Amino acid sequence: MTPAAPPRHSVAIIGGGPAGLMAAEVLSSAGVQVDLYDRMPSVGRKLLMAGKGGLNITHSEPLERFLARYGERRDRLEPFVRGFGPESLRDWVHGLGIETFVGTSGRVFPQEMKAAPLLRAWLHRLRGAGVRIHVRHRWAGWTESGALRFDTPRGEHMMHADAVVLAPGGGSWPQLGSDGAWAEVIAQRNVPIATLRPANCGFDVAWSEHFRSRFAGHPVKPVIATFEEGGVAHRRQGEFVVTANGVEGSLIYAASAALRETIETQGHVILTLDLAPDYEVERLATALAHPRGSRSIASHIQSRTGLKGVKTGLMREVLPAETFTDVARLAASIKALPLRLERPRPLAEAISTAGGVAFDALDEGLMIRDLPGVFCAGEMLDWEAPTGGYLLTACFATGLVAGRGAAAWLGAKEAET
Ligand SMILES: Cc1cc2nc3c(=O)[nH]c(=O)nc-3n(C[C@H](O)[C@H](O)[C@H](O)COP(=O)(O)OP(=O)(O)OC[C@H]3O[C@@H](n4cnc5c(N)ncnc54)[C@H](O)[C@@H]3O)c2cc1C
Repeated sequence: MTPAAPPRHSVAIIGGGPAGLMAAEVLSSAGVQVDLYDRMPSVGRKLLMAGKGGLNITHSEPLERFLARYGERRDRLEPFVRGFGPESLRDWVHGLGIETFVGTSGRVFPQEMKAAPLLRAWLHRLRGAGVRIHVRHRWAGWTESGALRFDTPRGEHMMHADAVVLAPGGGSWPQLGSDGAWAEVIAQRNVPIATLRPANCGFDVAWSEHFRSRFAGHPVKPVIATFEEGGVAHRRQGEFVVTANGVEGSLIYAASAALRETIETQGHVILTLDLAPDYEVERLATALAHPRGSRSIASHIQSRTGLKGVKTGLMREVLPAETFTDVARLAASIKALPLRLERPRPLAEAISTAGGVAFDALDEGLMIRDLPGVFCAGEMLDWEAPTGGYLLTACFATGLVAGRGAAAWLGAKEAET
């Protein structure tokens, strides 16, 4: 038997998250020697963390609705997600020997909910395909001669590759590896980058010490939140959690892009809360108009409307004292409690990152036009999406496109010579 011919090309991949690993898979199956570098002691840490609460890998809703989740970046991501969308992603997961199921909300999860079995099977397959993984290698840019520069525990390490796929993630949860430090390195090469900002994040509220100490950690549910962005009213029902600094949780995350944008233009945003979604305002007013007797106002509200705990705490925190002596005003305020959000929580605490490498700087294979042979994928690109599996789907899809783009570019270069 003749031994297999050695690979004609080598590609370095920076980052062992879903995007980088997917690029590694595509390139290794195209016969390219892949060296994948990650600054952490092991790869896929954010993927594993995502699996802690149930790995929501994608969503089963119709593709049109799915694509709309990418908001302003829908047009940019659509070709990639159409090429490798929710269906293909599920098939691919099944190919790793992991079954999936659709939850009641339409979200798709691996059968065991966790990411670890998937990552284990995937890494096994990648290593079998010849992918070399180098951990504790922090990419720090290029040398003058164009070599990649890495900081390692044994000092600086240089490496030449025929092409590079950058997939170092966004800037959230830096303790898992993606610290956004790449942005400065790439900006030095004059690549346009939209500032990295928190997405799917909590917001600061100037709670009083009394409220904070009593209610931090308490969920507020059910509640309807309304807010305006650019003259458009948004309205969502759900729940959120009071934190020591403000608010977080699914309802807040779902609204976070619009809330953040409004804060960027106005300095703050008012989130209007309906604390009693099941009551009409007239019914509330009638209930509250009953004589209170010797009861405290809090127990009167509770006995007449069922509102208690953190909800009455919020009313006390936000409303002026005189509101509680005016039944009509109190009822109206319960249906429209104005909560002032000061600013998003820091990027490090966010679930994901908005901003990143501008799509205008990239070709259709996700190569940086002004840096031939350098491709980008995953959360480092300038897009954002809510939670629901949209983040991972776009990371896998762009990883695949960057891998294919690099393979095609190498092939075209070879044909030229
Ligand atoms: C708590 C949490 C839960 C989540 N849950 C979900 C979910 O259920 N569903 C969903 O769709 N999304 C979820 N996400 C988001 C999802 O995990 C990310 O969008 C996704 O992991 C991003 O993939 P990526 O490959 O672009 O980057 P990452 O997964 O961040 O991987 C980037 C890798 O690059 C490495 N790296 C960074 N800089 C360098 C450097 N200079 N040199 C070398 N290596 C470097 C990092 O160490 C890291 O391993 C969650 C995120 C968090 C934080």
